[in-house]
Amino acid sequence: MAVPEFRNEPLTDFSQPAARQAMTEALARVRSEFGRHYPLWIGGRAVDTPERIVSYNPGRKTEVVGTVAKATREHAEQALAAAWEAFGEWSRLPAAARAAVLFRAAAIMRRRKLELAAWEVYEAGKTWPEADADVAEAIDFLEYYGRQALRLAEPQPVTPLPGEFNETFYIPLGAGLVVPPWNFPLAILTGTTVGPVVAGNTVILKPASNTPVIGAKFMEIMIEAGIPAGVINFLPGPGPEVGDYLVAHPRIRFINFTGSMEVGLRIYEQAARRQPGQIWLKRVVAEMGGKDAIIVDDSADLEDAANGIVVSAFGFQGQKCSACSRAIVVDSVYDEVLRRVVEKTQQLRVGQADDPETQVGPVIDQAAFQKIMRYIEIGRGEGRLVAGGQGDDREGYFIQPTIFADVDGRATIAQEEIFGPVVAFIRARDFDHALALANDTQYGLTGSVYARDRYKLERAKREFHVGNLYFNRKCTGALVGVHPFGGWNMSGTDAKAGGPDYLLWFLQPKAVSEKL
Ligand code: GLU
Repeated sequence: MAVPEFRNEPLTDFSQPAARQAMTEALARVRSEFGRHYPLWIGGRAVDTPERIVSYNPGRKTEVVGTVAKATREHAEQALAAAWEAFGEWSRLPAAARAAVLFRAAAIMRRRKLELAAWEVYEAGKTWPEADADVAEAIDFLEYYGRQALRLAEPQPVTPLPGEFNETFYIPLGAGLVVPPWNFPLAILTGTTVGPVVAGNTVILKPASNTPVIGAKFMEIMIEAGIPAGVINFLPGPGPEVGDYLVAHPRIRFINFTGSMEVGLRIYEQAARRQPGQIWLKRVVAEMGGKDAIIVDDSADLEDAANGIVVSAFGFQGQKCSACSRAIVVDSVYDEVLRRVVEKTQQLRVGQADDPETQVGPVIDQAAFQKIMRYIEIGRGEGRLVAGGQGDDREGYFIQPTIFADVDGRATIAQEEIFGPVVAFIRARDFDHALALANDTQYGLTGSVYARDRYKLERAKREFHVGNLYFNRKCTGALVGVHPFGGWNMSGTDAKAGGPDYLLWFLQPKAVSEKL
């Protein structure tokens, strides 16, 4: 199959009146579809349940975006049986036929781009550009992993040996469980599902309970794109009832998880325990949290650095595992960088995500609101509050972008992942100290260094221990294919989403040798 070279999906320019108009119309259309109900999908059949998951708009907390069927253990058993049944034929299909399903799904998403973005605005509280970027990333995953599957379908090179014919090639693992997060409700859900699937596996997809409607939209798109019955089984449901049960199941071959460190660790432990009848070691890919730092050196462009901190700390309300939650600034420029960041933060517009002027929308739900507000209370005792600090959950879950200055590197708000719009400023004596502070964490996901001094950038390249290191730019917004994404230590299993090695996590190599 002749496939054009991969290119990232362009972002929508909402400063153009036509794009603004189109998005306004998409929002109205989506709004008129609020309250619809979506089924489970098991073995190609739509299945309804008496119990439902209700999905609310986090900005207007009584507004119901939609309802989704709620799976039980029996549904989980049925879905696993369906996934194994589908595996035989799907895994034997030529990679080109599997990839073609992804390419068709990408085309459908492209056609429905603003509509999908509008669902994200309402269900996840993403601003227009954040929602648009998430849909573009989902399209990128489909296009990129489709191409990677074609590449990996080729036999791998082996050393010739006289008297033998030798081959090594990859085969898929089997039926797995996919547990994506709510914070990139289409992009990560799509990537973590179609990666294993295009490699020839079949899956049970358990979407996050905060954003199941977007999950249902994905499922509809995959069906329209021609995914055969049972290859992707859509199973919204409670974590303990469905997720834990399947993680521990002897017939689950792999688990692809993105979410918090606590849940990731639990999955890792549960999956490691051999169950009666289990004949394999389960593969676990876990993308977990971060406590990401931006270092500002005295050689930096301070205006660029201040902008980078604001975007990285407060984009999507700081609810990214890549978000900057520590600004580590060397002493001689600390006050100036802090002043600029505070000034820019105070200009940010907090409001409803469907308003195009909004830069900071609501956080995802009541539990998140309470947790972030608790950290802000802790921060009051650990630093000097210089911006924000207030929350308002009367209409929706709104929290002002918040900055604490003069925080100790070992303070709670400098060590624990907050997953909200809160950043701690930490003063470093010099660049050495800044690097030491940045590495003083259990995580290792993203980091940025703002510096013009080449020696310092080279040192950071060697010594700043994160999976995604950025120089003189923000530490969020990894692009598929351009910045393979994933981190070390308690940030995860060292996999790289959107990178050339990703599909190997869902494949096993087989060597065949024939005597001539
Ligand atoms: N890939 C996203 C980024 O680079 C972050 C993903 C996450 O938060 O899980 O910003």
